[in-house]
Amino acid sequence: MIKNAGILALVVCLLLVLLSPGLVQARSKLAILDSSAQAEFPFKLNFNLSAKSGVNITDIRLYYVVDQASSAQVTSEVYIDFEPDTTVDVTWTWDMRKTGGLPPGSNVDYWWVVEDADGEKVEADQARIQFDDDRYYWYKLNEGNVTIYWHRGTRSFARELMAAAQQALTRLTEDTGAYLEKPVKLYIYANAQDLREAMIYPQEWTGGVAFTRHGVIAIGIASGTLDWGKRAVAHELAHLVNHQMTFNPYGDLPRWLDEGLAMYAEGPLKLEFEYFLDEAITEESLIPVRSLSSPFSAYAGQSYLSYAQSYSLVEFLIDNYGQEKMLQLLNTFKRGIDYDTALEKVYGFDMDGLDALWRDYIAEQYQPLTVVTTAVRVTKIPGPVIAGLAVLATAFLLALGLAAERWAWRRGR
Ligand SMILES: [Zn+2]
Repeated sequence: MIKNAGILALVVCLLLVLLSPGLVQARSKLAILDSSAQAEFPFKLNFNLSAKSGVNITDIRLYYVVDQASSAQVTSEVYIDFEPDTTVDVTWTWDMRKTGGLPPGSNVDYWWVVEDADGEKVEADQARIQFDDDRYYWYKLNEGNVTIYWHRGTRSFARELMAAAQQALTRLTEDTGAYLEKPVKLYIYANAQDLREAMIYPQEWTGGVAFTRHGVIAIGIASGTLDWGKRAVAHELAHLVNHQMTFNPYGDLPRWLDEGLAMYAEGPLKLEFEYFLDEAITEESLIPVRSLSSPFSAYAGQSYLSYAQSYSLVEFLIDNYGQEKMLQLLNTFKRGIDYDTALEKVYGFDMDGLDALWRDYIAEQYQPLTVVTTAVRVTKIPGPVIAGLAVLATAFLLALGLAAERWAWRRGR
């Protein structure tokens, strides 16, 4: 009997040991006391951790993931360099001057894994920090999937930009079937200088940036440049729509389609672009569609012409084949299909076929300026006046540092 009682006591003790985690961890008592992160926009993100244990903490790792569209989730792992101790306070700084920056409003998820000399391991809960530009107080205006943040100017200034954004989205949906699938954020800085200060190594000419993968646009719009700003909002918003509609790990959109849709979202083609298009038709110096599928020329005239032709190509496809086909084309590109095959599948012609048909279309629309006809593409303003206007407009835009997108915009990754 006594022997049985002894065995029973032993079994109870074993069970207690097995069932109680407190007893198992009695030696280590490894625990995370505090975990936090602070942004120093736009350069740094600081991650802090406090932990303690009954024995030395020997291994600390930080894991983080940037919330962005990607074909596979990329988790970064950081080995923290520290002196083993029973109590540790560590900070690790993500210095974006070395890695490239993040746009305002982007989210970073992070967590810690800590290990001590007993082999005890603790994983902290995942936390999220929003990388905000907290150097300013941001006002907020939301409609549908679009949220505008601005730090200077009245609410009606923001409402005008929102109206431009919504108008661009409506135009895209009606004519191409494309729409915003996910929410986007627009950060409106008070001017180009404020915007540049929000970026790491900005270009002198930077007037705006679209971070397509993050669903973020940052633009500097001064009060006197509202008309330019409305077009810029429409244009860059269209790039986000294009990206959301067609993102896939295998392929991208031909440049003429991406830029053409963005120009189309802005509204009718502006006079200075018309000028370059008409000049190229007269001089038979139009750029082949195949060349417009890769990044555009950096030369001003060629760049203007590339944007103008892209607009015209998109207009040609929409006018002649309709909304449904354009949506089919976007859906085909979403499957990562190459440019020629995608066009062939949807329209029955490849890039060279498109080139030939489009040249006929534009030649039919275009008449030399000296010939008076109702089908005149450009107004009946004499050539030299148009040229003068275009030169003036170009000079003005260049002076503002806001010329064609080649100079004014840098596409985010
Ligand atoms: Zn663009």
